[in-house]
Amino acid sequence: MRSSEHYIGIDLGGSHIRSVVARDDGPIPRIIGRDERATPRSGPDDVVAAIAESCRASRAAVNAPVRDIAAVACSAPGPLDHRGGIVHEAPNVVGFIEYPLGPRLASALGLPEIYVDRDTIMAAVGEANAGAAKGSRNFIYVTISTGIGGAFVIDGHLLRGAANTAGEIGHIPVALEGPRCGCGSYGCVESLAAGRFIAEAYGVDDAARVYAAAASGEPRAIAIITRAEQALGNLAIGLANALSPALIVVGGSVAEHEPEHTLEVMRRAIAARAFKVAAAAVRIVPAALGRDVGMLGAVIYARERRAGRDEWFR
Ligand SMILES: [Zn+2]
Repeated sequence: MRSSEHYIGIDLGGSHIRSVVARDDGPIPRIIGRDERATPRSGPDDVVAAIAESCRASRAAVNAPVRDIAAVACSAPGPLDHRGGIVHEAPNVVGFIEYPLGPRLASALGLPEIYVDRDTIMAAVGEANAGAAKGSRNFIYVTISTGIGGAFVIDGHLLRGAANTAGEIGHIPVALEGPRCGCGSYGCVESLAAGRFIAEAYGVDDAARVYAAAASGEPRAIAIITRAEQALGNLAIGLANALSPALIVVGGSVAEHEPEHTLEVMRRAIAARAFKVAAAAVRIVPAALGRDVGMLGAVIYARERRAGRDEWFR
């Protein structure tokens, strides 16, 4: 293996496709080329074509030929089968139902070694290797963004469960009643506290406007944000009691911009209502890899799998 290798990390989201070429020459891979474009709404094959175009553009930006790419990983919405690269359902990406994303990407990119896994799992692997969870054997990764998701690392192992949905914390019901969630259930923490749902509840297109309105004292915005905080508090207590993490690493754009309405609320709820021993054992910290976590997580995931250091999350 050469001392420095190139990886491609892809972040497939409902609104945007992002890709990077990163050079693996330090604990955190260095992004040297990147591309971002809108996710096509015209079906999965067009999405794959757009990902391939994006990767070409990222490579072209740094003159990196295909032969220089050691491996590729794509961070995708779940639930999915990471072994076969099959996305079971991704409500925000049109047509992604039992879609063989891994095999299709492999042929579109002309690269055999492609890893596909849930976005939050790749983020957790990235945070464990190079971010806020470095050295931790018991942590929960939580993202509070457009949606809410997560991953569990307990006793040094990533929990996948029987259907690989372990860690899908956005769909833990935290209320006895509540709006219908995108997953078909109701009372999910995501449907009460995720950015998209906060914005929808207020009738705007960006949750930041709801937080701003609440800060200026607008009663309806305050009610929506208060409800979101109660939902996050309940989630945090459930996570602390049921999984007893040493760390809860919280990332995502809403958490990043509104820590006092997210991390702080989770800290207070755990201190007030979780088991005392569980509360004493856990710290809630911001994620460290920032807004590039999707791509960096994918690059680190690909590097670790290729190096055979993947037993704990395979
Ligand atoms: Zn749900």
